[in-house]
Amino acid sequence: MDKHERIIRPCPKCGKDVDFAQNPFRPFCSKRCKMADLGSWLKEEYYISSSIFEIELEQRERQPEKNG
Ligand SMILES: [Zn+2]
Repeated sequence: MDKHERIIRPCPKCGKDVDFAQNPFRPFCSKRCKMADLGSWLKEEYYISSSIFEIELEQRERQPEKNG
């Protein structure tokens, strides 16, 4: 039995076979694919964060601080 088992997975970005154990950019095949995916994720994250911020501001306006 081969102890150096390879885990080959397709890159989620381009579908190329990636050696999971050896690749620092896993699950992606390359830095390019990783950054491309991260870029799209960050755009989504920014969108979510800004909507949460708007909700928070709205709540603060409705619930003024108590003066102790
Ligand atoms: Zn790729």
